[in-house]
Amino acid sequence: MKRGRLFLFLLTCILPLQILIAPPCLSADAAPRQVTLAAVGDVLFARGVGMEIALHGAGYPFKTTQKIIRAQDLAFCNLECVLSNGGTPHQRLFNFRADPGVAKSLRRGGFTIASLANNHALDYGRESLLDTIAATKSAGVIPVGAGVNRADALSVRVVSRHGLRVGFVAYSDFPTAKFDDRPTIAGVNSDEIPGQIREAKSKCDVLVVSFHWGVEYKKTPTERQQMLAHLCIDNGADLILGHHPHVLQPVEVYKGKPIAYSMGGFIWDSHLSGADKSAIYIFNLGRSSAKLVREIPVRSVKSRPVLE
Ligand SMILES: [Zn+2]
Repeated sequence: MKRGRLFLFLLTCILPLQILIAPPCLSADAAPRQVTLAAVGDVLFARGVGMEIALHGAGYPFKTTQKIIRAQDLAFCNLECVLSNGGTPHQRLFNFRADPGVAKSLRRGGFTIASLANNHALDYGRESLLDTIAATKSAGVIPVGAGVNRADALSVRVVSRHGLRVGFVAYSDFPTAKFDDRPTIAGVNSDEIPGQIREAKSKCDVLVVSFHWGVEYKKTPTERQQMLAHLCIDNGADLILGHHPHVLQPVEVYKGKPIAYSMGGFIWDSHLSGADKSAIYIFNLGRSSAKLVREIPVRSVKSRPVLE
């Protein structure tokens, strides 16, 4: 066959055949965009947990759960201590601080996002908050709900997985000194929340909102927790992740969106009633959707979570 004819043969016979055999090309909109997210509550590396780490190493708290956490596309926790070697403790009963090196173990344990918007993030002052942000970032864990100023603390962090843009914002519903121009955490102003949530949602496909709120050791959400969760969902949030009570509170589905009111103390050392029980929540995230697919119970034994 002459070269010209061969080319014609290929063009008329083989190429159309290949088009028939080839799988249909998915458009960007039709492409699968399911992302799995593991979420847990409070994570502490100080006090009793710090003593166990001193004995067994920084990987100790994660050994029993890291297989499950690492298997997900994303994993969230509330980091309830400062990661710094400096700072001055506040005048209060508990101040939580740990070596910045534990951030690497948090990442190795599977965690990719950590909320710093809680009532212990400023235990050692604003410089130490910056140390915590730097330690998490350098370990590959994205800090959310804290920043170099108020606008930074409030801004959405967006992570892309499998083509899905997953946004995270985090609030602390506890009083913090209000300085717009200093390192701080994101506080709640319910008048501003609708605008903040709508703006955050405009920058991502699915929006996760974290709240440090409620009453310690109370097993039911307060009216305020419900009001804030519904307000966020009414304005575009797809999933609410709550923490601080250190015990489990129920999961509500409002307008098709899950609200985990309190996910318990995941890496925690309290021996008070119910505080030893926690859970790993696995969500499937899609565009403007979040679904709870598994709730894996865990129990705190010697300051680390063990699967039930
Ligand atoms: Zn707290």
